[in-house]
Amino acid sequence: MAKPVENETEEQHNWVEYSIHYKTVEAGSHEYTYWKNFIERTSTCHISHRLKSVVYYCDVHDHTDSKIYLEETIHSNEHG
Ligand SMILES: [Zn+2]
Ligand SMILES: [Zn+2]
Repeated sequence: MAKPVENETEEQHNWVEYSIHYKTVEAGSHEYTYWKNFIERTSTCHISHRLKSVVYYCDVHDHTDSKIYLEETIHSNEHG
């Protein structure tokens, strides 16, 4: 027996963006090598993640949900 379509539409959420927050978290470090004056050097690069935290509100059921998105990965040093 197939479920009535009416019930399914009633259960649908109406998620709308309620609030957005950004934060940056440390995500470790890594070493990389580069050449300077014909000498191979090693340097440490620190990585951080810029996160976007979005809170959603559904007025159909009067409840909230939240999701976190990775906006970008930031390297402290420029390197190839
Ligand atoms: Zn809902
Ligand atoms: Zn890096």
